[in-house]
Amino acid sequence: MSHTSPAATGLTGLGELGHAFADEVPELALPWTAAEAPTPRLLALNETLADELGLEPAELRTDAGLGLLVGTRPPAGSKPVAQGYAGHQFGGFAPRLGDGRALLLGELRGRDGRLRDLHLKGSGRTPWARGGDGLAAVGPMLREYVVSEALHHLGIPTTRALAVTATGATVRREVPLPGAVLARVASSHLRVGSFQYARALDQASDQTSDQASDAHSGELGGDVVRRLADHAIARHYPELAAIGSDDERYLALYRSVVSAQATLVARWMLVGFVHGVMNTDNVTISGETIDFGPCAFLDVFDPTTVFSSIDEGGRYAFGNQPPITEWNLARLAEALLPLLHEQQEQAVEIAVEALGGFREQYAEAWSTGMRAKLGISHVDAEVGGALVDDLFALIRGQADYTSYFRALGRAARGNLADARDGVLDVAGFDAWATRWSSLQPDAGAMDRVNPIYVARNHLVEEALADATAGDLAAFERLNAALARPFDERSGLERYAEPAPQSFGPYTTYCGT
Ligand code: AMP
Ligand code: MG
Repeated sequence: MSHTSPAATGLTGLGELGHAFADEVPELALPWTAAEAPTPRLLALNETLADELGLEPAELRTDAGLGLLVGTRPPAGSKPVAQGYAGHQFGGFAPRLGDGRALLLGELRGRDGRLRDLHLKGSGRTPWARGGDGLAAVGPMLREYVVSEALHHLGIPTTRALAVTATGATVRREVPLPGAVLARVASSHLRVGSFQYARALDQASDQTSDQASDAHSGELGGDVVRRLADHAIARHYPELAAIGSDDERYLALYRSVVSAQATLVARWMLVGFVHGVMNTDNVTISGETIDFGPCAFLDVFDPTTVFSSIDEGGRYAFGNQPPITEWNLARLAEALLPLLHEQQEQAVEIAVEALGGFREQYAEAWSTGMRAKLGISHVDAEVGGALVDDLFALIRGQADYTSYFRALGRAARGNLADARDGVLDVAGFDAWATRWSSLQPDAGAMDRVNPIYVARNHLVEEALADATAGDLAAFERLNAALARPFDERSGLERYAEPAPQSFGPYTTYCGT
């Protein structure tokens, strides 16, 4: 496929898209163009987000707008690229993943002055596609739309969904499905896997020069990784650029990613979110949630919950998410070693010490969040922690996670019935509630952090099935409910309820 020069979009707010990533780290950026979409038709447009980006929703609905949203008419001067990355998938290293069906259109500055990636998913095969068809079906793209937006409205860092456009093409899966392109926005698409890929490139070129000069002993190379790290600092942690010493600056970058990921996973745990496929190619440097395949929210609280059909060993089970994040951050450290110290042994020591901060930061974020969920932010971590542990022992395997915390909000107002009914060990609950009540939980504060509406699996499935059949009404109603997750509204009762028994055990399939 040739890289043709596209027509200007002429869209308001959209001058030239930036291409700093493609320019600064060309080794990870393959110039590419989107596949033609036979009959593009907008299924979902995030008007609020469009506005934040300085784009005109009405214009995005025109032919030129659709051309942007499916990638066939990128703005003049943009340099769309398929990004290269590697990744540990379920623990095994895949050296060449990359955007098999995605394109980075370019970088866009929003009204707030912040730079974001404008990125497409489902825009056709790229050189990274391997056996894949490069396409995406309507259902999985709308799933990413609804779940990523739900996380955003819960206050959790995430990529955002700008639009889903049906292409008019048919995608062959087990059954023929309507194809779609998701246009998403992220602070960047830099992943742990991007650094792993860059490191592998550096190692390959080190080997070549070793053979040529035969003069290498224990020092580490690092050209692509270094440029990628510089790019990441400029993009996400610009305040670190002022650190004069290289070793210290790159260590600070690593520490920043550790912190961002520790807080992110704590936030997932607090709302009962299961990402489902925490491979290192799905872990961002920015600390935003990315890639919504077999993700889901807990129904009944159980740390062993797994929704993904392919996660047979439970590697990415709900309760494993914090240690898996730590494991993924260790893979990032390995890729960064040459930047941390010129001697590998010292570099490892430095990295281990920095990663050591993960557990503490995770525990702190989780403990603070849990005390807030129980309305006892004023109570110290030790007392709060004991209450949380005892509560989880009571509700494990029994209570619906999301609605139980709302029931506790009612309990804090003196109405204990629902919370009491939610557990089998009523005497245990009464004892627990007496301890908790003596701390004077703040019911109003609880309702501000405990969502009433989350993207429940049965609601998401219902909305996607209807949408795939051509009816978007349920999808739109669900998005509207999830846009104000803490704000109880009459008429939305069914969005607050657990799945009916008839829904059965839930399994999701990777969003291909
Ligand atoms: P994901 O599960 O979406 O994180 O994707 C993992 C890897 O598989 C990435 O490199 C994707 O680009 C690639 N991939 C997934 N689905 C397809 C597809 N239909 N065609 C080409 N590549 C794909
Ligand atoms: Mg991915």
